[in-house]
Amino acid sequence: MTLAELGWDNDRAAAFAPHAAEGWRPGRVTLQMKGYFEITGDFGARLAECSGRFQHAAIQPADFPAVGDWVAAAVPEAPEARAVIHAVLPRRSRFSRRDAGGNDVEQVLAANLDTVFLVSALDRTHNLARLERYVAAAWSSGAQPVILLNKADLAEDAAAIRTEVTRAAPGVPTFVISARSRRGLKALTPYLQPGRTIALLGPSGVGKSTLVNRLVGEELLPTQEVRDADDKGRHTTTRRELIVAPNGVIIIDTPGMRSLQPWDAAEGVAAAFGDVAALAAQCRFRDCTHTVEPGCAIAAALAAGTLDLERWQSFQRMQRATAHEVRRGDRRAGQIYKADVRRATKGLRRRIQEKLGEE
Ligand code: GDP
Ligand code: ZN
Repeated sequence: MTLAELGWDNDRAAAFAPHAAEGWRPGRVTLQMKGYFEITGDFGARLAECSGRFQHAAIQPADFPAVGDWVAAAVPEAPEARAVIHAVLPRRSRFSRRDAGGNDVEQVLAANLDTVFLVSALDRTHNLARLERYVAAAWSSGAQPVILLNKADLAEDAAAIRTEVTRAAPGVPTFVISARSRRGLKALTPYLQPGRTIALLGPSGVGKSTLVNRLVGEELLPTQEVRDADDKGRHTTTRRELIVAPNGVIIIDTPGMRSLQPWDAAEGVAAAFGDVAALAAQCRFRDCTHTVEPGCAIAAALAAGTLDLERWQSFQRMQRATAHEVRRGDRRAGQIYKADVRRATKGLRRRIQEKLGEE
């Protein structure tokens, strides 16, 4: 496999230059196991572990390689010999969660994703609040979110749901598709280019595996029908968690990503709703409930039509979801959220003052 096929480009090569001088080689993490990794490069696929020095220097779990990471490794000639990872290249994006023990520690589930498809099914399971949490998680990861409303063949009013979703997640491309009938799949081509890394996020049963198989034109992932048929094999087989599909698109599919509970959504809320939060901070009363208070900036904006009612409602839902996460002990996310809101508020205040000064 060539490096380009794995997503390598000029910027990565530039970031890697100092490591090349050490005689190390670039590889991408294609599978993560307890303490070990599989890395793939132009040398093929190798079992790898982190050097003693690397482990010593690592301060937190997030410093260790994750699926999708580019690493610098010493790769011995003998194909069965283990490679030794010396460095992780800077990540362009990363999906994280709190570690499985429930501690306030970041665990990276996948790195260097270009696009994340957030999948919801247009049936009874469709849930706008959950989709919004995924959008927030995607924004905070640094990858581009794209919403796929799947199972259009089962939908009674796909257009209405689409409108609602677009309002709740402005700026996020949204597509109505059917993996079964193949409706709408052509429109996804721009995201499915060779060397681009994608992942699909969404609850079980929405059609992620079916979609991947459709999108790459091959049976790469077992779908639920198959899974039900031979349930035994699927837990024991180790499959690569980063796959280069025949059409060149790179797919990351880790168990952790599949079951992602977007705990760090607060950062994403701030990114997606910074303007709304800033507006709310303009209310006369600091504890304004934005219902009956005089001098409520939200009520004013709603009345003036400068704030969309649906968007305001989705902000409130996000806040409730976030507050829940914060209560669960994620102080860090809460702090970042507050800092972001504060920053956004300051910017808005300044703009308003400038405006007032002009008049
Ligand atoms: P995953 O858990 O998200 O990977 O979901 P699967 O890909 O395993 O699909 C779950 C079920 O939904 C399977 O029975 C699929 O055949 C079905 N499914 C997937 N896409 C569609 C679709 O567009 N329309 C309909 N009606 N069913 C679909
Ligand atoms: Zn108010």
